[in-house]
Amino acid sequence: MRRVLLFLLASAVIVAAAWLLARIPGHVVASLGAFTIETSTPVAILLLVVLLAAALLLLGIIRGVLAIPRAGAGWRRRHRLALGQRAVTRVLVALAAGEQGAARKEARRARHLLGDSPQTLLLVAEAGRLSGREDEAEEAFRALTKQEDAGFLGLRGLLRQAIDRRDWPEAQAIAKQAEAAHPGTIWLRQQRAELALQTENWAEALELIGPDARRVTYCIAAADAEPDSARALSFAKQAWKQDPAFPPAVLAYASRLRAAGYEKRAQSCIAEAWKRAPHPDLAAFALAQEPDKLARVQAAKRLIANNPAHPESRLLLAQVALDAGLTGEARHQAEIATAEGVKQRRLCLLIAEIEEQERGDTEAGRLAQRDALRRAATAEPDPHWQCTNCHADHAAWQPKCDACGGVGTVQWLSGVRTSGLPVIAG
Ligand SMILES: [Zn+2]
Repeated sequence: MRRVLLFLLASAVIVAAAWLLARIPGHVVASLGAFTIETSTPVAILLLVVLLAAALLLLGIIRGVLAIPRAGAGWRRRHRLALGQRAVTRVLVALAAGEQGAARKEARRARHLLGDSPQTLLLVAEAGRLSGREDEAEEAFRALTKQEDAGFLGLRGLLRQAIDRRDWPEAQAIAKQAEAAHPGTIWLRQQRAELALQTENWAEALELIGPDARRVTYCIAAADAEPDSARALSFAKQAWKQDPAFPPAVLAYASRLRAAGYEKRAQSCIAEAWKRAPHPDLAAFALAQEPDKLARVQAAKRLIANNPAHPESRLLLAQVALDAGLTGEARHQAEIATAEGVKQRRLCLLIAEIEEQERGDTEAGRLAQRDALRRAATAEPDPHWQCTNCHADHAAWQPKCDACGGVGTVQWLSGVRTSGLPVIAG
């Protein structure tokens, strides 16, 4: 209804305008050279309108023709973009499916279509790595490092490659660049800590590691690697504070205290540790400066005073007493240890030694010795240092297992050997 009304209104306006136009009086004469056009004013106005409309139409056509090349380039660009995006999708699918050849081919196609964008370079690199073409991946990562916003991604890829090649100096150089490009990244911190570990830069690893159960190991190793005695003492003290019952930590601290002239403090640390967790290495340290055999017995008694019933205390006292010729005391301690269930090889050997010293070369002595040695052959193994990761035995504690490279995995095993130990990854 509204449309009909509008149509009627428009028709009325046009009819009125035509009627008004037709009523304009006069005529128009136009001369051009030998031609003269003479017409009435309404017709002249109408011709002028038609001429204006024709000029506008012509202008439109000219503009359209001029825009053809530009429109063509735009279409081509859009087409390339669409093809490139499709190639990117295909790379992602191929990477997810583990199709190395397809991923590599499509990644190169995407790079050709879309140019060196962070996305295409990253895809080329990942596809290269998947296909084992580390050279291609490296070239893409290097190109990526030159990108203003995505340089870190390139450095990250190069760092991963360097770590995989175990090229530690190169990895450290790249890690420094990455740190400058993107400071404070947690991932980078972890990588740098790992690199510091691989290059055995313990002090740096300690700075980077944050809260970690292996800190005590790092502190001991940092103390051992530190040439400056004051700094070494500081690292050793940190280790001891971390775990005052862990023999290597206690010994690291006590040995530096001894070297600095604080013998009393060193002995007190050892005695404190013996109270919590006795260990033969602690006894060796405590008695090291006591050459006299009887004095050693007294020193051993002082050491074990706060934990005399521990099997380790009994074995220590038995050994030093035997060394001093006090076979009665040695036998007494050995018998208590046996009664308390100690069945280790070292106790059997100790008893054999006691028999030899006490009874000498008699028939009864030889029999008792033979009996003790026979028991030693089938006894439980002695406590020892073992890697909880690869189960390799070690003569002494070390921060890094030289068999598997695990850090902080060498632990004191005081019981029977087992094969189902919890695995602690290095
Ligand atoms: Zn190991």
